[in-house]
Amino acid sequence: MRTVRAVTDLREALRPARRAERTIGLVPTMGALHEGHLSLLGAARERCDVVVVSLFVNPTQFDEQADLRAYPRDEARDTELAAAAGADLLFAPPAAEVYRPGFATTVHVDGVTEVLEGEHRGVAHFDGVATVVTKLLNMVGPDVAFFGQKDAQQALVVRRLVTDLDLPVEIDVRPTVREPDGLALSSRNARLAPAERRRALALSRALDAARAAYAAGERDAAALTGAARAAMVPFALEPEYLALVHPETLAPLATVDGDGALLAVAARVGSTRLIDNALLT
Ligand code: AMP
Repeated sequence: MRTVRAVTDLREALRPARRAERTIGLVPTMGALHEGHLSLLGAARERCDVVVVSLFVNPTQFDEQADLRAYPRDEARDTELAAAAGADLLFAPPAAEVYRPGFATTVHVDGVTEVLEGEHRGVAHFDGVATVVTKLLNMVGPDVAFFGQKDAQQALVVRRLVTDLDLPVEIDVRPTVREPDGLALSSRNARLAPAERRRALALSRALDAARAAYAAGERDAAALTGAARAAMVPFALEPEYLALVHPETLAPLATVDGDGALLAVAARVGSTRLIDNALLT
């Protein structure tokens, strides 16, 4: 695996593959790689001839400077893990390579960005995501880009911009990878103190409770979210939001019909903000 930091080097490294019409897969990450990222790399390895992983802690998508400062960074470890997972190229640009002097363009997606994370983190978060993902797709030019269902709203935002801007790439969204007890893997989990780690289980337990109610035939949104909220009580964790929405439009639902639903939850455990979700189908 080679590491490149400049866009010109990245394009040069990919030129032979592109000429030979070999398929290129991209896994965009902010580093601090875990099994969730590695499952995306595994999917890319399975589907594509050349696998590129990008590692860039994008400052413009952080709505809290403290979160950006505390975000875990360990490029040496990430390099080892990405190589072991079969990546061919690690693209790790410095911020100055991504945002050059005079940078003045923002990709803004309406609609799906306005609720859930967009409502609570502010519009700048998904503007930052949409802009950097568009740039990464243009820099790498992949045939397929891989994203995690863990960030369900982000995946919808990316699908929207790829469709609307006619970007020639397929978006492949893969299931959330969890710890054995159910906690969704996240780079931010590393910041949880032991007592916080136990309380963090409230999120996946809430989703489990709603899933069980749904499997038992419950279709009323208030009853489903009520079951989820009740499961969080023993953990003394108040969700920032817990919402049952349409899986594609993210419009709030009163009852679940044949389209199914997305149950999305966010909560702050100490100073660490966690998100999780379940598809009810
Ligand atoms: P991040 O480094 O947090 O920006 O995540 C990079 C990619 O990995 C995104 O597409 C995430 O949705 C995905 N991802 C993060 N956590 C998980 C997980 N637990 N399971 C599957 N994919 C994940």
